Amino acid sequence: MARSARSKKRKRSKQRVKAIPEEPFKEEPISPLVRKYWLQRYSLFSRYDEGIKMDEEGWFSVTPEKIAISHAQRCGGGVVIGVVIDCFTGVGGNAIQFARMGYHVVAIDIDPRKVQLASNNAKVYGVEDYIDFIVGDFFKLATSLKGDVVFLSPPWGGPAYRTIKNFTLDLLKPKDGYSIFQVAQKITPNIIMFLPRNVDLQQVEELSWLSSPPLNIEIYTCRLKRIMYNAI
Ligand code: SAH
Repeated sequence: MARSARSKKRKRSKQRVKAIPEEPFKEEPISPLVRKYWLQRYSLFSRYDEGIKMDEEGWFSVTPEKIAISHAQRCGGGVVIGVVIDCFTGVGGNAIQFARMGYHVVAIDIDPRKVQLASNNAKVYGVEDYIDFIVGDFFKLATSLKGDVVFLSPPWGGPAYRTIKNFTLDLLKPKDGYSIFQVAQKITPNIIMFLPRNVDLQQVEELSWLSSPPLNIEIYTCRLKRIMYNAI
């Protein structure tokens, strides 16, 4: 279905309350720490020069655009219309691509600044009308959330995750991967979890046993990162 044909349906869900902080946004200067990421800015956001804004954690943690597109395509590539809940939205790398693919997105982040940045970045891509931004703690909001797909991109603990040989699920923040997955399962069995490529694969497979009957799990590795999908 073309985006225009969906707009009526989408306008209805726009009635949800948006919670975006109102203070003017001050961009951080590029520090030596983020310079490495800044050099890759166009692979993070191909429209970087059109007004994308980031903060330091955003630079470290944003999903590169091609990977975010592959997450969105895995959801059904816009064929299945529905709501994706992006539980850890950051500066919006994933939320933007889900919206571009035709989904309505509920984008949550505990950090008001991230929501402000993600909202700005969604405007750059022209998809702000398809995303409801919420400042809040995913774990507190979870019981009131409804969606067709839950997308989990929790913090990996900063760039140092790369130095770990076997990244175990307890290293995820703000809670271990089992707890995060269990909370997500209460919303829907259709879960996409974005994990580092050095994640302990046996632990990832064990996540399926948190549900009875066990969930089907699909693990997809791309050059940079490892992505785990539940059956969707
Ligand atoms: N996929 C995102 C990056 C996510 S980084 C992107 O492409 O931009 C992880 C985010 O989780 C951070 O922005 C952090 O503020 C947020 N976060 C941490 N704890 C949270 C919680 N309890 N609820 C919601 N968001 C949380």
